Amino acid sequence: MLDFLGELKRTHYCGVLRASDAGRAATIMGWVHRRRDLGNLLFLDVRDRSGIVQVVFNKETQPEAHAKAEHVRSEFVVAVEGKVTEREKANPELATGEIDLVATKLHILNTAKTPPFPVEEEISASEETRLRYRYLDLRRPRPHRNLALRHKILLEMRKTMDEMGFIEVETPMLTRSTPEGARDYLVPSRVHHGQFYALPQSPQIFKQILMIGGLDRYFQIVKCFRDEDLRADRQPEFTQLDVEMSFPRQEDIFSVIENVMVRACAVAGIEAQAPFPHMLYKDAIRKYGSDKPDMRFGMELHEVTNCFPAEAKQKLQIGGNVFVLAAPGAAAYSRKQLDELAEKAKGHGARGAYFVKVAAEGITSTVEKLIGAENVKKLAETCGAKTGDLVVAVAAKEEIKGTEAAALVAGQMRLQLGEALGQIDKTQWKFLWLTGFPLFEWSGTDKTWVSAQHPFTGIEDEDLEKLESAPWEVRSKGYDLVLNGVELGSGSIRIHRQDIQERLFKALGLTEEQLRRRFGFFLDALTYGTPPHGGIALGLDRVTMLLAGEKSIREVIAFAKTTAAVDLMAESPSTVDEEQLDDLSVRAIPNVLRPRCSCGGVWRISFERGPKGGGLAKDLFCPLGDHKITLASVDINGWWLAEHLNPVTKKWTIIDGGKGTT
Ligand code: ASP
Repeated sequence: MLDFLGELKRTHYCGVLRASDAGRAATIMGWVHRRRDLGNLLFLDVRDRSGIVQVVFNKETQPEAHAKAEHVRSEFVVAVEGKVTEREKANPELATGEIDLVATKLHILNTAKTPPFPVEEEISASEETRLRYRYLDLRRPRPHRNLALRHKILLEMRKTMDEMGFIEVETPMLTRSTPEGARDYLVPSRVHHGQFYALPQSPQIFKQILMIGGLDRYFQIVKCFRDEDLRADRQPEFTQLDVEMSFPRQEDIFSVIENVMVRACAVAGIEAQAPFPHMLYKDAIRKYGSDKPDMRFGMELHEVTNCFPAEAKQKLQIGGNVFVLAAPGAAAYSRKQLDELAEKAKGHGARGAYFVKVAAEGITSTVEKLIGAENVKKLAETCGAKTGDLVVAVAAKEEIKGTEAAALVAGQMRLQLGEALGQIDKTQWKFLWLTGFPLFEWSGTDKTWVSAQHPFTGIEDEDLEKLESAPWEVRSKGYDLVLNGVELGSGSIRIHRQDIQERLFKALGLTEEQLRRRFGFFLDALTYGTPPHGGIALGLDRVTMLLAGEKSIREVIAFAKTTAAVDLMAESPSTVDEEQLDDLSVRAIPNVLRPRCSCGGVWRISFERGPKGGGLAKDLFCPLGDHKITLASVDINGWWLAEHLNPVTKKWTIIDGGKGTT
């Protein structure tokens, strides 16, 4: 029943036919979007990348084609030969609505199963179903538009970079770990058993080496891989516009990127103004409670710790600072709404949220008794609240001194209230450069200073002497680019001197041995005449998402993964053949637990979990003391192996193992 394509040649895309084509012969090819059978007349809407055209089959004039058309169903692949004919009554909903293609011949090129969801612009299928059947989802106009826009943006960026003298250089995908602060994706080597490549978290070290190699201006549109917890705007693999240049001042890098972004915006029909404004990191935190402030609206934060007398602070258990903002027109919020707001604030980590209503009848507050009428008035004045506004004050416990925890909570409230109260002007495109970042941040989990960006970020010249003595005061030469409250990318002027780079690694707690092992080649390269250099990387999935007006980067990535890092269509990750693992000298241990041992060491329990679950009643004794851990609650069903790490010698010892039954 199926026809061959043979020598048949498409003359027109479906979506391009217009009244001016009336009278012409046309051959179109595409998918059956919809079929309506009215007896003598049968209509097929045929769709391709460019749009939809209505095809008419007339039983009387073309009985053969008509009879054949009765067999087609949605998503069949067809070719139609016919004549473009002006319609009596145009359909204004369709770009091709002024014409019909009156069919003379129908070729059925392929059949299709009934799709799990209709291929329409607006669909109600879940994102999971869409990702599983991505090939059907991709037939919709919206993904087409997004991918076409993505292509145009990337093309424009390449052109812009080329015009400014940048050379695109590819860097390896099979490489060694780059410290961008995430986990690596590792690839085992077949040739060197027990050794691994890491997929690049970014081409950072390579692009710096390209500067040492005299390339002067490098860029690359490149995939990067980071194994971290995913969110709406993160994927395990993502695309960056990666840039590096030699002998730059900060403003040189800024102007390169401004040029790129203004032109990328123009591609999407958006007019952006350069130069972009600058803001210091500490001002962003104190004024907007965010390191990526959304500048499309006001509602700035103000510190009002002084409005809370010592006694009130004690009663309210306020330790750190208090920040306040005015929510325009929210004085009419009900008791219930205020309770909800307070709950939200607590959800963001607030100790408490306190409200002041500025109404025509006067100012009232939930904390008036505690802080007094004068202070209540001051709260309202400080944030410039007008009649009809609600003043929201929040306090939060500062886990790490100087992090302005209350401002960060207030910043979240600002975003939520701004959105709820319609304060955000969605027609605006507000870029912002952030500078003056601290070089280090305290890691609560590792109990140590870690690089706020990556460890190649330059250090403000006058702060260099504090690197060892007061690391928390050292500012970096890093910067971030933000658009409408979304971080588009970050970069820095780099450390280009080997002595300083080595001091920094040491400040991060790397031993001489670790340093040589991980970065030896790079430290060596730095000693051979490294020019001052700097660069930046922009997240292109996020750029495209914003310019396409989408809320998730998955809408602008052809084959996106879920937030659980799964490709539902390709069913990846997946298990592999035993032989493949043997070739690589790798064995997959179904489950591993790493409980801490009170001797300071660690246990490693490798085990199989049975279909029924179950536990192994077994005690394991620490080889270094008279304490034990118990496996009773561990769901073992099958083989298991318990090993112990000596915290001093760093050697593993096998303690016990066997086959568990429950
Ligand atoms: N490598 C950095 C990143 O991926 C960007 C840069 O510093 O150029 O975030």
